[in-house]
Amino acid sequence: QKFKEIVDRLKEKRTLQDEEYKLLLQTKDAQEQAYLHKAARDVCQSIYGNGIFIRGLIEISNYCKNDCYYCGIRKSNHHVKRYHLNKEEILLACKQGYELGFRTFVMQGGEDGSYDDHMMVDIIKSIRKSYPDCAITLSLGEKSKEMYQQYYDAGANRYLLRHETICESHYNQLHPSNMQIQNRVQCLWELKEIGFQVGSGIMVGSPYQSIDHIVEDIHFLEQLQPQMIGLGPYLPHKDTPFKDEAKGDEQVTINLLAIMRLMHPQALIPSTTALATISDDGREKGILAGANVVMPNLSPVKHRESYSLYNDKANMNAEAAESLHLLEARLQKIGYTISYDRGDYKKEVKK
Ligand code: SAM
Repeated sequence: QKFKEIVDRLKEKRTLQDEEYKLLLQTKDAQEQAYLHKAARDVCQSIYGNGIFIRGLIEISNYCKNDCYYCGIRKSNHHVKRYHLNKEEILLACKQGYELGFRTFVMQGGEDGSYDDHMMVDIIKSIRKSYPDCAITLSLGEKSKEMYQQYYDAGANRYLLRHETICESHYNQLHPSNMQIQNRVQCLWELKEIGFQVGSGIMVGSPYQSIDHIVEDIHFLEQLQPQMIGLGPYLPHKDTPFKDEAKGDEQVTINLLAIMRLMHPQALIPSTTALATISDDGREKGILAGANVVMPNLSPVKHRESYSLYNDKANMNAEAAESLHLLEARLQKIGYTISYDRGDYKKEVKK
């Protein structure tokens, strides 16, 4: 009863006490979880219906100048077969995606210095010109405000940059000293100022993360009010310093996703590849807890294995852009369907 009252209050007030967040995050009780997840999916359906937006994810480069301890494409991993796509390859992926029905392209990559600023701006302009009806999302890490402004002016609409953890000491346990949380947060605010639809989020169960850290992250996202929220379990990669660390908890991830939906009813929340990787029906569980986006892989098939952020990353079957029929079949089984709309953030109409 107490649990239900807390969920109902979160739905109404969109905020809770820290101890209450912890209760919702940590519940393993099937009935409690069912109540929380249903509340979240009802909220999502009341705004976005039963359509799940699709985004074509183009992993443009696995070169990275950063050395995040958790990430498979970190600079010090010498086992990675490095690649980056040139303009023609990116445009070809967009063309294939457009023909498949995608109306959002997400260009994600490591922080690759070889795409000079001019080149990236040129690529964005070309996509904008060829596909005026599509949204262009970038996920290219930390840049200067001037650079972000140039991307925006060239035609990019959205930017994904997970803050990873808002706690400075925890951030420093996950990243070498040349990376700082203040910088990442500044980037997020600058992206918002420029006018991007902004996405942020965390890995659940990253090494050294406590439940209190997650509560701090909830507070940070409450302040930031991002239009998109990306959450996935931490999954180890065999060639990183964290290779022996435990993976994140699937249930906590899904509970957090539901909490985010109740706090941010209009947000675009993907059921992430990491969720689809941690268990076979992880993608479906995310949707049933309030996610409304999936991001099938639209990268050239020959490079997909090389964009390995964590072990066994899903990139085929229902995670593959060319197999949307498989995704559709899986969504139908749980009462959903693919939405081929561009899927922009819907601003809340205050009554
Ligand atoms: N370089 C860009 C950036 O930093 O935002 C985009 C690429 S980065 C690889 C995309 C996301 O992958 C990160 O924000 C991180 O949360 C996630 N990621 C990296 N390694 C991971 C792991 N081992 N388990 C789960 N997610 C991981």
